[in-house]
Amino acid sequence: MDGEATLEQVISNGYRLRAYCEGCGHTAFLDVIDLAGRYGPARPLSAIRRRLSCRHCRGRACALQIAIDW
Ligand SMILES: [Zn+2]
Repeated sequence: MDGEATLEQVISNGYRLRAYCEGCGHTAFLDVIDLAGRYGPARPLSAIRRRLSCRHCRGRACALQIAIDW
């Protein structure tokens, strides 16, 4: 994989996206199909990360992890 991963790459590989809040440690799986519908499948993950906020503490320090095993 060259450069930044996009939503499309995550979906086509059957991976999932997990958001991790650096503020409170809350983790949540994201609906990548829904994100691709809202932001476009070519959107890089770094752009998605900037739009995230924690559902638990409303912090914005979220990390994105690609979850391959499930
Ligand atoms: Zn949080």
